[in-house]
Amino acid sequence: MLRFGGDYNPEQWPEEVWAEDMRLMAEAGVNMATIAVFSWSRLEPAEGAHDFGWLDRVMDLLHAHGIDADLATATATPPPWLVRRHPEMMPVNADGVRLEFGSRQGYCPSSPVYRAHAVRLARTIALRYREHPALKMWHIGNEYADHTLECFCDVSAAHFRAWLEHRYTTVDGLNAAWGTSCWGQHYTGFDQVEPPRTAPGPVNPSQLLDWRRFCSDALLELFEAEKAALREVTPGLPVTTNFMSILHGLDYWKWSAAEDLVTDDAYPDPADPSSHVAIALSYDLMRSLKRQPWLLLESAPSAVSWRAVNAPKPPGMMLLHSLQALAHGSDGVMFFQWRQARYGPEKFHSALLPHGGTDTRTWRETLQLGQALTALAEVAGSYEQAEVALVLDWDSWWGLEAPESMPSDRLKLKELLLDWYAPLHARGIGVDLVPPGRDLTGYRLVIAPNLYLCTQETATWLSTAPGQVVVGPFSGVVDPADQVHQGGAPGPLRELLGVTVEEFWPLHDEVRQETGLGAARTWTEWLRLHDAEPVALYQGGELDGRPAVTRRGRATYVGCRLDDTTPLLLDLLVRAGVEPMELPQGVEAVRRAGYLFLLNHTAIPQRLALTSSGTDLLTRTPMHGHAELPPRGAVVLRVEGNQ
Ligand SMILES: [Zn+2]
Repeated sequence: MLRFGGDYNPEQWPEEVWAEDMRLMAEAGVNMATIAVFSWSRLEPAEGAHDFGWLDRVMDLLHAHGIDADLATATATPPPWLVRRHPEMMPVNADGVRLEFGSRQGYCPSSPVYRAHAVRLARTIALRYREHPALKMWHIGNEYADHTLECFCDVSAAHFRAWLEHRYTTVDGLNAAWGTSCWGQHYTGFDQVEPPRTAPGPVNPSQLLDWRRFCSDALLELFEAEKAALREVTPGLPVTTNFMSILHGLDYWKWSAAEDLVTDDAYPDPADPSSHVAIALSYDLMRSLKRQPWLLLESAPSAVSWRAVNAPKPPGMMLLHSLQALAHGSDGVMFFQWRQARYGPEKFHSALLPHGGTDTRTWRETLQLGQALTALAEVAGSYEQAEVALVLDWDSWWGLEAPESMPSDRLKLKELLLDWYAPLHARGIGVDLVPPGRDLTGYRLVIAPNLYLCTQETATWLSTAPGQVVVGPFSGVVDPADQVHQGGAPGPLRELLGVTVEEFWPLHDEVRQETGLGAARTWTEWLRLHDAEPVALYQGGELDGRPAVTRRGRATYVGCRLDDTTPLLLDLLVRAGVEPMELPQGVEAVRRAGYLFLLNHTAIPQRLALTSSGTDLLTRTPMHGHAELPPRGAVVLRVEGNQ
C-alpha cells in the first residue's frame, strides 16, 4: 500500500466539521493522517491537567474511516504556561537576545526543563494510545532545526562544555585541536569555553566546526529522549521525525540511524523550472539514508506561504511531483495539510481541501491523485541500489561553509553536488548518496564533489571503490579538527590521485578560465603532478598550460569547478560502463526496481523512444517502442519480465 494523506489539525475546527473531513478523506482515498504535531497547549492546558477527549474522538473517527494515525508527541511548541514559568527555556541567539513566545520551536535544545516535560508528555500520550487501533507510527517533534538549530544561553554553554570534555577529555586536548595558540585563545579550564557567540571578529573555525557537530547532536539527544519513552511503552511501533530535505544543520546520516523510517518534507518552488532536479537529489538522499523506501510526509498541493512570492502548482503538477517522489523511493505521498487553515501564518498555504471547498481544481486533483496512488500500489516496498554514488559528508560541508576564513566563500556544497547530479539526472542515471565508510560494492562510479575534511580512513575507503572514482576541488584539505594537512591538499588523497595542490586559485564571479573540457568558474588550483596524467590543461590566464583535470588509474581529480561537467562525465560513464538514456530536456526517467517512471516536467507534449516494454500502471495500457507524454504528464511502466 502507498500512503496518502496529510497533516490534519482538527483542533483548529469545530467538531461538526470533522464529520465532513472524514467523509471527504474517505472519498479521496486518504489512508494516513499526521495529527497533534502542535497540540501540546490543547492536550495539557495546565501542568498535569490533560484534555485528551478531543484527541480520543479524532483517533476513533480516523479508525472508523480506515485511516491510520501518524501520531505526534506534540512537543514542537511548548505551551505558554510552561514558557512563562520557565522563561529560561526559550532559545537565545548569538547576540544574546532571548527569543519570545508566539511562533513555534520555542525551546532551548539543551533545556532540562523542556526535555523533562517533552519526555513526560510523549510517555503520557504513548500510554493513552498504545492500544488504539488507528496508531501506526510515532512522529517526534517537527522539522527539527527549522527555526531552532542552536541556542547560545548559559545552559547550552554548559551542555557544549560537557560535549567538548567528552570529545577531548582534557583542556589541553581541546587547545591542541582548536589551535588556540592562534590569536591568543589558550584555555586553562573548560569553564572558560563558551559557544561561538557574536565576537569582535572571525571566530575560531575549529570551535565553529565543533559547535555545528554539537548542535546536531544536542537536538538528536532530544529526539532520542522522546524515542526512549515511546519505545518503553510501544516497542514495536515505528518512530520517525520529518526531515527537511538536504539540510545543512543536521547530520542526517546520524539522525536516520536513530529512526525506524525516514520521512521528509519537500517544497520545490513551482515557479523554478529546475526545482525538480534539486528535489530529486534530496529524494535520492532520503532513499540512501537507510537504503530502503522512505515516505514523503509533507508536500504542498499547490502554493506554500513562506516564500516572498508563492507560485501555485499549475494543473497536473501535484500529481507529477507526487509521482516523482514515488519514483525516487517514497512509499506514499503526504501533504501539508488536509484542510486549508483559516488563520495563522499558514492560512495561505495550500491544502488538499482548499478554502474554496470541493468545487475546486485542487480538490479534483486530490481525487485524481488518490486514484493514481491506488493504481500504483504494487510499487510500495520496491528498492534497488543505483550504479552511481555521490559522497556527502556533513563534517566537510560544515567546514567548507564556515564563514570568514576560507580562500573563497563561493564554494557551496549543494551546488557542487548538483554540478554532478544534474547531468546524471538528465540522462536517467540513478544516483545514491553515500557517507564516507559505506560499502561501495556495486557502484561503477563514485563521485566525491568535495571532501574538504578528509581523514586517512576516508581516503583508504575511497580507494576501495570498485569502479571509477572522481574527487572534486578543495578536497583533502583539513583533518577533523579543521587543521590543514601538511604537504598540501589533497592530503590523505594524494596517493589515490597522484597530485599535489600547491596553491588555491579562486576566481571572481565574472571570471571564466578555459580548460579544454569547458570553462572553469569560481575555483581553480595550481596543481603539481607526481603520479598522474593530465586530462585537461588550462588555456590562457595565469594557469595557462597547467593541469586542470588529472587521472591516475581509475581515479580522476578535478581541480576546478567546471561550468558544465557533462563532457568529462560522458567520458567517465563510458569508462564506468554506465549507459546513459537519451531524454528530451525536462523529461525525467527514474528506475525503481522493476518500474520505470517517465515524468514530463515541461508544459509541452514529449515523445521518447523506449528500450524496454511493459504496462503503464496509470492507464493499464501496454507500451512498447515509444512513450507519449502529455504536458506535465507521466507514465509508470511495469517493465516486462518484472513479477
Ligand atoms: Zn540554550
